[in-house]
This record gives sequence, structure tokens and C-alpha cells, in this order.
Amino acid sequence: NAFSEIDLGDALNLNIRRCKYVKPTPVQRHAIPISIAGRDLMACAQTGSGKTAAFCFPIISGIMKGQYAQRPRGSRTAYPLALILSPTRELSCQIHDEARKFSYQTGVRVVVAYGGAPINQQLRDLERGVDILVATPGRLVDLLERARVSLQMVQYLALDEADRMLDMGFEPQIRRIVEQMDMPPRGVRQTMLFSATFPKEIQRLASDFLSNYIFLAV
Ligand code: AMP
Repeated sequence: NAFSEIDLGDALNLNIRRCKYVKPTPVQRHAIPISIAGRDLMACAQTGSGKTAAFCFPIISGIMKGQYAQRPRGSRTAYPLALILSPTRELSCQIHDEARKFSYQTGVRVVVAYGGAPINQQLRDLERGVDILVATPGRLVDLLERARVSLQMVQYLALDEADRMLDMGFEPQIRRIVEQMDMPPRGVRQTMLFSATFPKEIQRLASDFLSNYIFLAV
């Protein structure tokens, strides 16, 4: 019933203590072990439930422990290992801020890219290297079209507030993004979908994007 009981790696466990998280919230208590075990997950989670850590911890821990093929160097294309999609600039920035705290001194690099802001700084951030990309769907499609991001090496995909992304009309962009991950060569991608509500559109996304997943309602 404490984070120290979950094997997330020393550096991440230290950052969790620095953030003064002692006890996992209900969604964290169930979602983190499922993700660490490598299973896909669809989770019911409201704002304030601690869902950000629920998807960030397994991603950071997995990247720290993982062995990855060398990513192409010298090109202007960024090859993130994890992608977190979120509906708005505000939410993306919040996730980025938290993910950066959790990944402090782990070597895991986090970059955020959102629409409605100049792209140049985001391009520079991407060029410096990225392991976890937090993005809004529209801006990510733009980056893919410019060939400044490739999703070929993505091992972890998290969809945050999936119902809100669909309400905002992002389904075509989300489908284009996920299609790119399904192009060969690809390894095994692990996917986590978080949503507050489960209309049939969300259930369809889940059946299209997740494989053999666990549905968590806490
Ligand atoms: P979220 O639902 O991810 O937006 O998190 C809501 C707030 O709860 C954020 O300010 C988090 O930093 C905080 N929080 C998340 N998990 C924990 C935890 N296990 N212990 C204490 N605070 C937490």
C-alpha cells in the first residue's frame, strides 16, 4: 500500500518521495501494477484522481529499465519512445510539468508540443532529444507531416481524457497518429486509455487500439 512496494526503480522512487506522494491513489494502486505487468489498460479516471502519475510512472520506469535500439542520429526527426496524447494545451503542460518532476535525474527526456503556439521552440526542443512526447493531436499531426517526429519507436501510448479528445473532434487525428505506430517495423506497443465516460465511441477506440486489455473502474 505504498509506492516503495512497487518496483519502479530507485531514481523514480526517489522522485516520488520528493513529490511527497506516500500512498497511491485508487487508480494508481490498480493501474500501475497492470501496466508494469505489460498489459493494455482502459481506466475510468476523473480529474484529481491521480491519473497523470498512473500513466507516467510505468512509462518512466519502463524506459529506465528498457533496452532500446539506437535511434537514428543526425536526422532532424525525433523518435520518442512514449507518446502521451491529451486534448488541450493546459492539460499537456500540466502533464509535462509532472512528468519532468518524476523523471528528474533519470535521464528520461520529456518534451511537450501543443497547438495555438509558435512551433519553432517546440522543434528546437524535439531536436535536443525526446523520450516521452506529450502532445495535442492536431500539433502532432503537423509535426508528423513535417517529418519532425516519427512514431516508429513508440513503445508506450497513453491517451488522456479520451472522451474530451473525441468531443473536441480529434478522432480523425488520433486515428492517423495510431495508424503510424502500426506501420512496420514495430515492436510491441503498450497502450493505456483514460477516460471519465465510456460512450460507444470510446469503446470502439478501445477495441481498435488496445489488445487484450483490462478495464479498470475505481
Ligand atoms: P491528477 O488527477 O493526475 O491531475 O492529480 C491530481 C493532483 O493530485 C495532482 O496535484 C497530483 O500531484 C496529486 N497526486 C497524485 N497522486 C498523488 C499521491 N499518490 N499522493 C499525493 N498527491 C498525489
